[in-house]
Amino acid sequence: MATSFKSVNQLSSTSILIWRLVQGVVWLIGATIFSCLVFYPTLGTLLFWNILIPIAPALIVVALGVWRNVCPLATTNLLPRHFGCSKRKRLSQNQSGKLNLISVLAFFIIVPLRHAVFNTNGVATAALIFSLAMVGFIAGFFYEWKSVWCSGLCPVHPVEKLYGSNVLMSIPNAHCGECQNCVIPCPDSTPNMFPNAFGKSRFHNISGWLITGGLPGFIWGWFHVPDQAGLSSVSSFLSVYEFPIMGFAITLLLFTIITTFLNDSNKRVLIQVYAAASVSCYYWFRIPSLIGFGNFESDGLLINLKGIIPSWIPLGISICTTLFFFFWLIIRKPNNNSWLIRPEFANK
Ligand code: SF4
Repeated sequence: MATSFKSVNQLSSTSILIWRLVQGVVWLIGATIFSCLVFYPTLGTLLFWNILIPIAPALIVVALGVWRNVCPLATTNLLPRHFGCSKRKRLSQNQSGKLNLISVLAFFIIVPLRHAVFNTNGVATAALIFSLAMVGFIAGFFYEWKSVWCSGLCPVHPVEKLYGSNVLMSIPNAHCGECQNCVIPCPDSTPNMFPNAFGKSRFHNISGWLITGGLPGFIWGWFHVPDQAGLSSVSSFLSVYEFPIMGFAITLLLFTIITTFLNDSNKRVLIQVYAAASVSCYYWFRIPSLIGFGNFESDGLLINLKGIIPSWIPLGISICTTLFFFFWLIIRKPNNNSWLIRPEFANK
C-alpha cells in the first residue's frame, strides 16, 4: 500500500522545528483573534469573518496542505497525540463515515447562523470556536491522529475535500510523525482527493453527494440573506435558512439528475464543475461585499470603496476569480498531488 503513494515524508529535524515554529506563530495569531472576539468584538469579527475566512477557500483550492499543517484548531486538537497522551483508538469505516456525515450537516446548519448571530456577535463566534476546539481536543485524547477531527468532524473538512482536488503541490505532513493508517483513505495522503473518492460506506457516499450537489446553491442562497442581529422570534431566526436551503435543494436535484446519465469519469468532471461553481460563487459575492459593493450595504464589509472606485472593478475581479477557479479545477489536468506527503508507515 505504501508504494502507491508518491513519496514518503522525510522531514529533517530542522524542518520539523521550522514547522513547529510556524504552527506556534499561526496558533498565536488564532489566539489573538480569539481574544479580540471576546474583548474587542467589533475588531474580532472583522479579523475573523472579513479577513481570515475570505482567504480560506482560495488557500484550500491552491495549497490545502499548508492549511492542514498550520490550522490552529488542528494544532490544539492534536496536542494530546503530540504529547503522547492519546489512547489512539481506531474508528471503523462506518464510524468514520458517520463523522463525515455529521460534519456535512454541521456545516449546513452552522453557516446560515452567521446571519442570525455570528457575523455580528464576537462573543458568540468565540463560543462557537471554543466549543469546536473542545470537541476536537477531547476527541484527541481518545482517537488516533486526525481520524476524529481533522478528517472527521471538522465542519470545514467536507469543503476541503470538494475544493482541494488539484492542489499546487504536496508538502510534508507536519503533524503525523508516522502514518498509523488511521483514516482510510487518508484525505491528506490521497492524490487528487475529492468527495466520494473511494467511499467506504454509505455515509461517506451520502456526505459526498450532499456537499458536492448542494454547495453551489447553498452559497448562492446564503449571499441573498442579510445579517439580522437581534432576531426576536423563532420564525425570523429560521428565515436565515430559507434561501440557502432553496439553493441547496435546486443544485442538489440537478446534480442528482445529471449524474444518472454519466459514467464515472464524467461524474468526476461534474464534481469538478460543481467545486469550481461553489468557490467562484463564493468570491463572486464576497469580494464586492468586502469593498462596499455587496448586496447588503455593510454586511461583510472590510473597507468601503464605494464612490472611490468605479463599479466595474469589483465586477472585473469577480470575473477574474471565476475564470481562475474554473481553469484551476476543471481545465488543469489532475496532477496526482496529495495535500500532504504521507509519512512513513509505522512498523506494526
Ligand atoms: S497520514 Fe496516516 S496517521 Fe496521518 S491522518 Fe493520514 S492516515 Fe492518519
